Amino acid sequence: YSATSRQTRNIDGEPDGGVVVVRDVTVELEAVRARENLAASVSHELRTPLTSIIGFLELAVDAPELTSETRRMLDIAARNSERMLGLVTDLLQTASDKDGSLTLAISSCDVAELARQAVESSGLAAEQRGLTVVTSIDRPAVINADPFRIRQVLDNLLSNAVKYNRTGGSITVSVDAADDAVRIDVTDTGVGVSEADQAHLFDRFFRAGSARRSDVVGTGLGLGISRDIAKLHGGSLSVTSEVGVGSTFSLVLPVTTQEAA
Ligand code: ADP
Repeated sequence: YSATSRQTRNIDGEPDGGVVVVRDVTVELEAVRARENLAASVSHELRTPLTSIIGFLELAVDAPELTSETRRMLDIAARNSERMLGLVTDLLQTASDKDGSLTLAISSCDVAELARQAVESSGLAAEQRGLTVVTSIDRPAVINADPFRIRQVLDNLLSNAVKYNRTGGSITVSVDAADDAVRIDVTDTGVGVSEADQAHLFDRFFRAGSARRSDVVGTGLGLGISRDIAKLHGGSLSVTSEVGVGSTFSLVLPVTTQEAA
C-alpha cells in the first residue's frame, strides 16, 4: 500500500480535518516485477534452442559430402549463433543483476587452477587467430571465492584478449600470489584502448570507438559484469593500455576470508 495524507483547513485557514488516501499498489509492483522477469526469462528460454542450433550446425559442418561453399555458409551460421548465445547470456546476466542480486557462492578454490582452465578453454579461439598464449602460473593460489564467477571474469578477459588482438599477436596470463592478495594479469598485443575510452570501459553497453568500427561483435556488457564480480569479492578489476600496442587487465582478489555478500 502507498499512503498520503493532508490536513484540510476552513475558510479562515484553521485546521478542520484531514484526508488520508490509501492506495493499493500491488498491481503496479507486480507490473515492474513482471517486466524484470520477462527480460530474464526470454533470455533464459532463448538459450536452450540456441544451444541446440549450435550443436547441430557443428555436426553439419563435419558432414563428409559438403561442398566447400556449403561448409563455409554453415561455418558462418555457427559463428553467428555463438555470438548470439554470448549476447543472450550477457542479457540474462544483466536482467538478473539489475536489482543488485548478483550473489556469490563462496568456497575455498585455487584461482591459479581456474586461470589454467580458462587458458585451456580459450586455446582453440586463440589458435584460430594465430595467437601465441604464454602463461606464468607457478604455484597454487587458494582463496575464498566463487569459482564459477571467477571463471566467468577470466573467460571474459581471455575472450577479449583474443577478439581485440592482432593476427599473430600474443596473450600472456600471469598469476601472482602474495600473502594478502592474488593478482591475475591478462596482457594482449592488440588494438589497445585510448585514455578517454578507458574511463568508460567498465560501463554497461560501452564499446570503444575501435571496437564499434571493427567487425568484432560484442555487447559491451562483459567488463561491467566482471568488475561487479571483482568488487563483490572485495577485489578490483583495472586496465592499463596503449593504443596500437596492447592492454593489460588486472584482476586482484584479497586472500582474506570473504563471506557471500
Ligand atoms: P564486448 O567485448 O562484448 O564489446 P566488454 O564489456 O567485454 O564487451 O568490453 C567493452 C569494450 O572494451 C569492448 O567493446 C572494447 O572496445 C574494449 N575492450 C575490451 N577488452 C579489450 C582488449 N583486450 N583490448 C582492447 N579493447 C578492449
